[in-house]
Amino acid sequence: MTVSREEISQAAQARRDWAIESLSEFVRQPTVLGNEECGQRVAAKLFSELDMEVKIEKIVLDEIKDKPGFGPTDWQLEGKHNVVGIHEGGNGRSLIFNGHVDVVSPEPIKLWTNPPYEARVVEDEQDGETWMYGRGAGDMKGGTISYLWALHVLRDLGYAPAGKVICQSVVEEECTGNGALSLLEKGYRADAAIIPEPFNESITSAQVGVLWFRVRVLGMTTHVLGASRGVNAIEKSWPIIQALRDLEEEVNRPENIPKLYHGVDHPINLNVGTINGGDWQSTVAGECVTGFRFGAFPGESLNQVMQTIETRVKQAAQSAPWLKDNPPEIEWAGFRAEGCTFDVESEVGKTLRNAHKQWRGAEPEQLRCTATTDIRFFNLYYDIPATCYGPKARRIHGVDEKVSIDSMQRITEVMCSFIQDWCGLNKR
Ligand SMILES: [Zn+2]
Repeated sequence: MTVSREEISQAAQARRDWAIESLSEFVRQPTVLGNEECGQRVAAKLFSELDMEVKIEKIVLDEIKDKPGFGPTDWQLEGKHNVVGIHEGGNGRSLIFNGHVDVVSPEPIKLWTNPPYEARVVEDEQDGETWMYGRGAGDMKGGTISYLWALHVLRDLGYAPAGKVICQSVVEEECTGNGALSLLEKGYRADAAIIPEPFNESITSAQVGVLWFRVRVLGMTTHVLGASRGVNAIEKSWPIIQALRDLEEEVNRPENIPKLYHGVDHPINLNVGTINGGDWQSTVAGECVTGFRFGAFPGESLNQVMQTIETRVKQAAQSAPWLKDNPPEIEWAGFRAEGCTFDVESEVGKTLRNAHKQWRGAEPEQLRCTATTDIRFFNLYYDIPATCYGPKARRIHGVDEKVSIDSMQRITEVMCSFIQDWCGLNKR
């Protein structure tokens, strides 16, 4: 059973308005951490439109807390929902499509040209593409709609995948990955997994690891009139930030970059993401907590990296008078994500590259990503080859984030061919 590219192309065009409407509804849901439910309801509706069996799967802490890759949290995790859509299929190879529903905060909203959840569609005359603006439009609701678009196209043409297809809308991708981990632990497995992260129609061959931690510095509060008797925790935090910047500089030196990441500009990034210190303008700040994100290369032991970070913080404290006797505390909460690789020569890698090539006339670019995604769980701990393949987006995590609808349509077309080649097709 084969469908021609022309048929796919026409059916995808006919479904374009559906895709724009569905993505608008999805983007209008402000699914930041702790507020994912509204988006999960839309995901469940989208899956059921495809006549899939829809399952709401609760995260149970006991099922995942001792599993590799689990990210400890100090926010509410237990009871959050992942949504799964299942197409049973037949004897063909099985496939997981995974997308995360959570988005990062759009703050400061005042920097946006239009409100971040408005889902505004704009045709750009300069690049000739149609874009949807919105927090999460690119990262990664546009990707999720792209694969659903493909499943609709096949269905509109009278076909269904001959293998089992599991669609997953997960939470917690932007902070721990515990959503994806939970579904794998519940037994959702397949012969391959695709995550349509917004990486510009490339195929991910490697990604770095990511660690989250906070450093808590205590000072001594006092009225500013006697400021010299107080110790300002905000100012005492500075040498620690500096020491970690030095570590970052060191690991990015050419001689310290493994071959896998040669040619990638500054692969390991430190981010000073949050700082909370002091609580009165006329009181010397008594406490300061700085939130960091740090990277690691694939194959690097996270324990090792954590130890290095601890050592550097300790060393910085030892050469600072107050910190020497009042050592800062490191709290590890959030991402404990190892780096990973995907074999582009594997069966699924070859099938995907070939599907891309049929449509685009050339091999897809191979991405060595400087961020993490949920593909690590599939590849590292469950022996399921997984990669990212998703649309072009701009300014993800930034102001005026947008996704190209035309790129989504290109992903849709390639996904139709990929599903046909990987799962096979049956007449409906
Ligand atoms: Zn993402």
